[in-house]
Amino acid sequence: MAKNNEYNKVSVLIVGGGPAGLACAIQLKSEKPEIDVCVIDKSAEPGNHNLSGAVLEGEALHTLLDSAVPGWQESEAAKDVLGKKVDKDNVMFFLGKKLSFNIFFVIKLAKRLGLSFGQMIHKGDYIVSISKLTKWMGQIAKDLGAEVLPGFAGADIILDGTAERSVGVKLVDQGLDREGNKQLNFVEGEVINSKFVVLAEGCDGLLTEKFIEKAKLQRQSPQLYSVGVKEVIKVSSEQYQKFGDDRVVHAMGYPIWVPFVGPGMFGGGICYPVGDDHIAVGMIVGADWKYCDFNPQDALTNFKNHRFIKQFIDGGEVVETGAKMIPEGGYYAVPRDPQTGTIGKGNVLILGDGAGFVNMLKIKGLHNAIDSGIKAGQAIAETINNPEAAAARYTELIDQSAVAGEMESAKSFRQTVARFGPLQGMPLSIFGGLLPRFRVEGDYEAMTIARYRLKPNQQFDKDTFTAMAATEHREEQPSHLTILDSEVCKTKCTPRFNSPCITFCPAGVYEMVHDEVEPANPSNCLHCKSCQRKCPFDNIRWTVPEGGGGPRYKRM
Ligand code: SF4
Ligand code: SF4
Repeated sequence: MAKNNEYNKVSVLIVGGGPAGLACAIQLKSEKPEIDVCVIDKSAEPGNHNLSGAVLEGEALHTLLDSAVPGWQESEAAKDVLGKKVDKDNVMFFLGKKLSFNIFFVIKLAKRLGLSFGQMIHKGDYIVSISKLTKWMGQIAKDLGAEVLPGFAGADIILDGTAERSVGVKLVDQGLDREGNKQLNFVEGEVINSKFVVLAEGCDGLLTEKFIEKAKLQRQSPQLYSVGVKEVIKVSSEQYQKFGDDRVVHAMGYPIWVPFVGPGMFGGGICYPVGDDHIAVGMIVGADWKYCDFNPQDALTNFKNHRFIKQFIDGGEVVETGAKMIPEGGYYAVPRDPQTGTIGKGNVLILGDGAGFVNMLKIKGLHNAIDSGIKAGQAIAETINNPEAAAARYTELIDQSAVAGEMESAKSFRQTVARFGPLQGMPLSIFGGLLPRFRVEGDYEAMTIARYRLKPNQQFDKDTFTAMAATEHREEQPSHLTILDSEVCKTKCTPRFNSPCITFCPAGVYEMVHDEVEPANPSNCLHCKSCQRKCPFDNIRWTVPEGGGGPRYKRM
């Protein structure tokens, strides 16, 4: 960044160093090497805050790298990150703890009949660790001349007086104590002025949501989320060989959906190879669950104990863990300017998961994140002398792209399931685009006093889970988690729902302290933001802690 009087100044500021933001940086630097591009990320190192399944459709990444880095496929890094492809595509239905049915033929049939469900085919896709992919993309962006700055957390996006464009981003203050007093090492978060601001923060990004509010963008339907928890397990060589380096498992049904008798939640389990005798297992649950004592980690425990999964991981050692949310609302939840339809406004562009470009029929969004990064890079290169036109050009490119095509094809899926539940909603959603847009409520409004009837006997060990995510924050800083009104906890939530944040936070951040619910362990936070979206009284706010804090994922 070039120093300009008291402010730092850059041409293009990308907030978020995940696949979308880095794809934007790579595209832009390959088209216009002379432009100064800066990527900031709150994690200590690129990839540390990135967690996903992950199965990656390669086309967008190939398009990006073919023009930016000729011969890229020959590099050792490319071979390491993209060394595995799906050959065995197990789409399963689990009935109870023991029975499993491979229903892949149904997906194939749907594809043949041209039904939207046919999209759920992963054969030929890469099986990747998104943390490794991100680290690699970060290096490519740096090699092309972009500044990639981990440890820089954005606190706010600053708009000009008209709220039509941004003038830059203010970073988080460093060196405050728990009460907010300045310590000797206090450094005020500086403002980075920029001609273009690209918001690529991932799901439920702080600056993205602030911008949506300030610039009065609108979603046609509230964003819906799911919560994913994941473990990487070291297994025996025999187990790994039995599983194979080319198999992915996506399982519906038990333990989150048992037709007719319940529970009735949307989502499912995943099981992927990581390499070197490691297998990843995960559970993704729609955050519109209604059970006040439910915790996705309990469902993960049940999933791991299912006979089909257990054969591959029994006796293994958990070596890494993590949690994050996924934006599932799809087409209707993309934030747009109500007048112009732009995804962003003026010189501000919203990318990837921040915009909600996840296709739940494919259970994938990574390819769309990268594609949106490419489109953002192209739009900025074209409008470099007219930044106010960037969001409009970006939206035009997105609306003509495969991203928009597939978002549209899946547009009513998640809302239909949210409205009718998995049993009726999934079959109904076959009618795809013919269905109307059903009104759905925010996830937090779905909580009831119902209980999850498959609660495992043993409580989930959250301390070990948190330790394996290697999460860290400077202890002496203000809490980045705020309970807005503790009276609501005391008089409404605890008597009725028994303080669900204590149960569902995967890191055990919330505790009852002297009869009051408090975010007692903020330094354990995994930045999944589930608490902000699932507290039944919308009573929690998550802000960004000092840069460099949070989990340190390596193989997620
Ligand atoms: Fe309930 Fe939310 Fe208070 Fe937790 S913070 S006790 S979930 S109202
Ligand atoms: Fe996730 Fe909130 Fe718990 Fe942090 S405190 S781990 S954001 S649920």
